Amino acid sequence: MEQNRQAEWIARSLKSVWHPCTQMQHHETVPLVPVARGQGAWLYDADGRRYMDAISSWWVNLFGHANPRINAALKDQLDRLEHAMLAGFTHEPVIRLSEKLAELTSQALGHCFYASDGASAVEIALKMSAHAWRNAGHAEKREFVCLKNSYHGETLGALAVTDVPLFREAYGSLLQDVHVVASPDARLAREGESAVDVALRAAGELERLLQERSERIAAVIVEPLVQCATGMAMHDPVYLKQLRLLCDRYGVHLIADEIAVGNGRSGTFFACEQAGIWPDFLCLSKGISGGYLPLSLVMTTDAVYQAFYDRDVARGFLHSHSFTGNPLACRAALATLAIFEEDDVLNRNRDKAARLTQALAPLAQHPQVRHFRQRGMIWAFDAVIDDAELASSFSRRFFTTALEHELLLRPIGATVYLMPPYILDEQEIELLAERTHTVFEKVLKG
Ligand SMILES: *Cc1c(COP(=O)(O)O)cnc(C)c1O
Repeated sequence: MEQNRQAEWIARSLKSVWHPCTQMQHHETVPLVPVARGQGAWLYDADGRRYMDAISSWWVNLFGHANPRINAALKDQLDRLEHAMLAGFTHEPVIRLSEKLAELTSQALGHCFYASDGASAVEIALKMSAHAWRNAGHAEKREFVCLKNSYHGETLGALAVTDVPLFREAYGSLLQDVHVVASPDARLAREGESAVDVALRAAGELERLLQERSERIAAVIVEPLVQCATGMAMHDPVYLKQLRLLCDRYGVHLIADEIAVGNGRSGTFFACEQAGIWPDFLCLSKGISGGYLPLSLVMTTDAVYQAFYDRDVARGFLHSHSFTGNPLACRAALATLAIFEEDDVLNRNRDKAARLTQALAPLAQHPQVRHFRQRGMIWAFDAVIDDAELASSFSRRFFTTALEHELLLRPIGATVYLMPPYILDEQEIELLAERTHTVFEKVLKG
């Protein structure tokens, strides 16, 4: 009976729902999991089987599913105001959220512009940068620079600054040309080089481009500290320091895409804090609403804001999304930020991170594990696989085997990563480490 219900949902979903980032035919062999409910770090399927959400449902869920505090805030907000347009109107949740975020940057980024998803926030930052230059009499500054192996989303503007051949292939002719410069990925260290050396070498390459071309360049966009989507490539904070210096020296905006690494994921609330810098634009999404509702935003400086402030309509930033600043989403974000304060989350995460790193130590020593790495609440390692057939199917096999061991994990190619919610207790930390190890060994055996 139960079995039939699960099978029925799968069949109906595959018939009518086109799933994201999926070759749908793969579902002939890869299972589709109908989720019936969530509680804390766990998702439960229609049969009552559970899966630890060890990647926070694509990196959005910070404080678990059905979090009582976020639920209560949303229920309260639901009876007050579910939505109102933000052009010509305002409301308490969006005001308080903007003030709170500005405070977290000590007012360096005191103006918040809202959208609903990460890619839209990236579009906004790119448009705002070019438009600010245009308003300042530099319409020729309209080119963008991104890093090798960058990921900034999949709408056309965001995809243009994304360096993932598989995602771009079919759309190349639709995309604006951009400059792609070296990634400071610490794994690229040559014999005798440190992570700092790699970062400085990459910054040197960027400087050569800026020397030649800065009059035409509006902004450099970067994922601070961890390039997540292309395999959790981590770099030294010195790279961000250099980036800030170079952008100032050559008169180019710096866009920090903290959609994945913001909200405490990198260890500090904003990843940029670890380099002691602020960008000209900072994009947030994913965890900002605790993983409850679509919400994204771009924070910027007073200088950028002033570049648009004028009697002339056309000098304004005429960009909008229907659900811009949705009150429910803002309220979820406020509840999320309150948990950071009430529970001293950043400090407690340091202890949790140390525990999980320790629990993963035996796996880190595995002869087929390379580049075991960690930053804040992100762990990753690269599997060394000689067998070509296994290498090409590693990610899917790992996902399937992990489900059999009650774990939701989706490796990126041969890179296994953990990005758990911030609420794991000691037992859950042990369970996650042990089972990840077990799954890895099983998958290697084929
Ligand atoms: C996920 C992500 C995006 C895109 O966000 P969506 O909400 O999926 O559009 C952009 N940049 C980074 C760094 C991301 O991780």
